[in-house]
Amino acid sequence: MSLKTILPGSTSPTGQQTTLGVMGGGQLGRMFVQAAQAMGYFTAVLDPDPASPAGLISHFHIQTPFDDEQGLAQLMQRCEAITTEFENVPAPALVTLGAHRPVAPSASCVAVAQDRIKEKAHFVQCAPVSGVFPAPYAAITTDALLAAVPADLLPGILKTARLGYDGKGQVRVSTREELASAWEDLNKVPCVLEKLMPLRGECSVIVARGADGQTVSFPVQKNTHHDGILAITEVFDGALDPTLAARAQASTAALAQHLNYVGVLCVEYFLVDTANGGADLIVNEMAPRPHNSGHYTQDACDISQFEAQVRALAGLPLPTPRQHSPAIMVNLLGDLWFAPNAVREKVSERGVSPPWAQVLALPGTHLHLYGKLSARAGRKMGHLNITAPTVAQVRATTAEVLRLLGLPPLDA
Ligand code: ADP
Ligand code: MG
Repeated sequence: MSLKTILPGSTSPTGQQTTLGVMGGGQLGRMFVQAAQAMGYFTAVLDPDPASPAGLISHFHIQTPFDDEQGLAQLMQRCEAITTEFENVPAPALVTLGAHRPVAPSASCVAVAQDRIKEKAHFVQCAPVSGVFPAPYAAITTDALLAAVPADLLPGILKTARLGYDGKGQVRVSTREELASAWEDLNKVPCVLEKLMPLRGECSVIVARGADGQTVSFPVQKNTHHDGILAITEVFDGALDPTLAARAQASTAALAQHLNYVGVLCVEYFLVDTANGGADLIVNEMAPRPHNSGHYTQDACDISQFEAQVRALAGLPLPTPRQHSPAIMVNLLGDLWFAPNAVREKVSERGVSPPWAQVLALPGTHLHLYGKLSARAGRKMGHLNITAPTVAQVRATTAEVLRLLGLPPLDA
């Protein structure tokens, strides 16, 4: 069904409060729910986990598997429109929902983002318009394709086509023998082999696109990963080359338009050196939803990526977001809940709370915790947005935060 305007705080034709639904109950769903509720919508979350971060705070929490017919029927009965918070929603479930309710992004857009082979084909197809190519790659789905992999893709990274995230489902390989045994270890599921690129840095862009095609872009995020997981996002004048940033924004808008995308879309880019000493962009992957690198928008912009998701879904206007403060986002992984040299087995399941009182005593620190009941190494427990009137101040506060938390310092 196509989108129509769903005004906040109104009642539906059946007399119930207008309710927006989300497939998935993780932290991104939670922050969507918070943004929707702030505007006066009721919310419904479908997620089997009774303790899911979004389910815990939503008006309605339907606790069934994502492809459960009754669960999907309940969600449709409750909601005027439905979005998703993770790309691995079964596409048939979105097709079912989309037959009866407006769903944004659509099943077909999510299907492209959840399969690296389709995603890269989309990037290649759009390159004449977007002006940005993916890293050289080959799809590996058969032994014949494995044998035909060009030698210049090595050393490379073998990535499963589906279900990878935070560097999971990825193996670095240097030789044909390593490639063959890595694919064997991955049970020969469909994969892509990507050439290992010498990265100068990474960035990402979030756009929101309405059903009318209007597209607005957030400022470009500079991202630092540790062990394949996003660690830090920095967004302020001077963090990135403005020409490359503008190209990344234009490319992201083109990628969204080509899919007739409706909703919030994030595209990740690599920054690489060129032969003449300059820098160039390579498109890495896309997420059909708000993104970890866009969390700074909650405290540094006049509209957050989650409010943009609500507006796009509800058919409301999408003014261009304005960043009012230089910002740095620090991801809070479960590791922080365990004393630096503690023996994991000897600490309680929840671990020890990080020194929030000291962190929050610093001006411009905004804590977002996701309500997860137990901490684990590598688990995303929350994030901290740091804002300040100047770049120097936001960097100084962040340096102090990182010291308090025992995290590595910012790059110079
Ligand atoms: P995920 O779905 O886990 O985010 P990505 O494809 O974005 O998967 O890879 C995670 C990280 O691994 C990237 O952000 C980047 O730091 C590194 N990486 C991925 N592909 C390449 C590549 N072809 N060359 C160099 N580094 C890469
Ligand atoms: Mg990524």
